[in-house]
Amino acid sequence: MKKYSAPIMMILIFEAIAITLWLTKDNIFYLFNFSYIGCSIALGMFLFIRRYKHARRIVQLLVGSYMLVYLGLICNENMQIEGFWYYLFTGVFEAATIHYAVAKIFGPLIFGRGWCGYACWTAMVLDFLPYKVPQQPRKKIGWIRYIVFALSLVFVATLFLAHVGNIEKIMFWAFIIGNALYYAVGIILAFAFKDNRAFCKYICPITVFLKPMSYFALMMVKCDKTKCISCGKCKRVCPMDVDVTDNSRKRKNGTECIHCLECAKNCPKGAL
Ligand code: SF4
Ligand code: SF4
Ligand code: SF4
Repeated sequence: MKKYSAPIMMILIFEAIAITLWLTKDNIFYLFNFSYIGCSIALGMFLFIRRYKHARRIVQLLVGSYMLVYLGLICNENMQIEGFWYYLFTGVFEAATIHYAVAKIFGPLIFGRGWCGYACWTAMVLDFLPYKVPQQPRKKIGWIRYIVFALSLVFVATLFLAHVGNIEKIMFWAFIIGNALYYAVGIILAFAFKDNRAFCKYICPITVFLKPMSYFALMMVKCDKTKCISCGKCKRVCPMDVDVTDNSRKRKNGTECIHCLECAKNCPKGAL
């Protein structure tokens, strides 16, 4: 039973969030939403402990498709970065602002970029592409993310400053068009750079939040130096080019780790 303590803990953390938000916001949606996400993640952890090799993908599909189809398309909630700016400007702590606070701003202080490995609906599709392990060295074009980040802020700020009417409808269409663009650019870059996660490394504006917060993450994949034989397999299979054998926070590409655990699965000595 002890080996299942992590998934049980995950359910309890998400239930605490679910019940707190349900009672404070007086909206039962939060109880359903965070219970569903917590159970999905716990199921993935349970399957991982049982050594089921597609455990992470199951969670990614359960959470990613729920957020894209149910929250985005059916409930008309723009969970992309434009939706976050929109709710921030309206001063409402709802939907996208809660989502960003939990998954992308404060949550990463605990679980790092777990969002990117287990829940993101963009990566959910990109991870089906053929280049799971990057086939080319990393490019020095990560600055593009800051331009995309600034453009998203300018776009929403302009709507408010210009007093454009029916912004909610514009936000819905921004969600549809934005997602279509993300998928198109992500797929083109994956094939151009032979790297499924090229979009995450160079374009995604959400990493402007995720990277600095995950630097301080409590959860980190660590290397047991007494077992490691420096074979380099972990670095070769890492989709994000992390030097996971270095246990310091300053390790190479440390804020890129998406907790996929490919390194641990492939370590011949069980050092990770
Ligand atoms: S970097 Fe962006 S696109 Fe990639 S998984 Fe994270 S949130 Fe999704
Ligand atoms: S795969 Fe394991 S043994 Fe090889 S370098 Fe990485 S941690 Fe060390
Ligand atoms: S392979 Fe290991 S170091 Fe690389 S992203 Fe996955 S968990 Fe992080």
